[in-house]
Amino acid sequence: MSRFFSSKYAGLVPYVPGEQPRSQEFIKLNTNESPFPPSSQALRAAAEAARRLNLYSDPECRALNAKLAEVYHLAPEEILCTNGSDEILNFAFMAFCDADHPAAFPNVTYGFYKVFAALNGVPYEEIPLREDFSVNVNDYVGLNKTIFIANPNAPTGLALPLADVERLVKGNPDSVVVVDEAYVDFGGESALPLVHKYDNLLVTMTFSKSRSMAGARLGFGAACKALIADLNAIKYATNPYNVNGMTMAAGIGALEDEEYTRANCRAVMETREIVTAALREMGFELGDSKANFVFPRHPKIDGRKLYEELRARGILVRHFDTPLLARHNRITIGSREQMNRLLDALENILEEC
Ligand code: PMP
Repeated sequence: MSRFFSSKYAGLVPYVPGEQPRSQEFIKLNTNESPFPPSSQALRAAAEAARRLNLYSDPECRALNAKLAEVYHLAPEEILCTNGSDEILNFAFMAFCDADHPAAFPNVTYGFYKVFAALNGVPYEEIPLREDFSVNVNDYVGLNKTIFIANPNAPTGLALPLADVERLVKGNPDSVVVVDEAYVDFGGESALPLVHKYDNLLVTMTFSKSRSMAGARLGFGAACKALIADLNAIKYATNPYNVNGMTMAAGIGALEDEEYTRANCRAVMETREIVTAALREMGFELGDSKANFVFPRHPKIDGRKLYEELRARGILVRHFDTPLLARHNRITIGSREQMNRLLDALENILEEC
């Protein structure tokens, strides 16, 4: 840190992204990317859009908003596209949280919420999960804070039924409830239909997982027009050209190829069920994930050691160095072949311990 760095950020503990090794040798199961390439329609559209990179991108994102509106049965004014869903989450902290509207989220959830809160000087409460890592909705009803709920949650993979999400939104009529649906396409129930019913609900989604576009950085939020207008005010005060032209075009291409996305999601879910059963067979304990990852632990080996043993065998998974999660690993669901390699490696490691 230089002597010029603002004291405002002195206590900031940045989010630590998963490793992104340049070597292709690793089987990469650590950052919940898709094992499948982007849709060929997305790739063609991006290549075509590259020819216009001399121009700024459309700050209103009109073509992409119109396509999203069609696919998700929303009005274009109920949508805001961002540079990954991380950006809309940060915008939500900026727009809807302050000392009078502190944030609240589960004590095990997406690690970036804490960082966004700290970055924006927002006080926050972390609400403990139940012992089985499930969210107790009763803890959130009448909370009167800006609530951030990942559904399915990360890194647990556990999902709340839509009725519970609705209870949460209804139970906090004077606060904004942000439902982060980064993983919803892998078996969760989306709260998007509730956007027309409640003026305090923001649903965020991403193209990073189910649409295989993590590197393109495209996310969006859906909410009533007034909330989207607030978020737009933040966008235009920070980065009006937040989504680049190639990404916009690729997003439209992907949305025109929904059958490809659905087939990939089905493949990931099928593989997840096979892997879950195989892990349980080996003595791992894990919940029923509704995301593109699983979150197992084994009574014989702790998470750090398992991470290291897998890494030594060329497989990257995620380990979180916190007391609550130390025994676990988060493992992305890759291709069938990658998961077979993972299961072989795990068998080998368990034999040795
Ligand atoms: N929400 C959750 C729960 C996540 O795990 C992630 C990233 N892995 C994101 C949001 C942000 O994803 P992106 O910025 O790639 O859309």
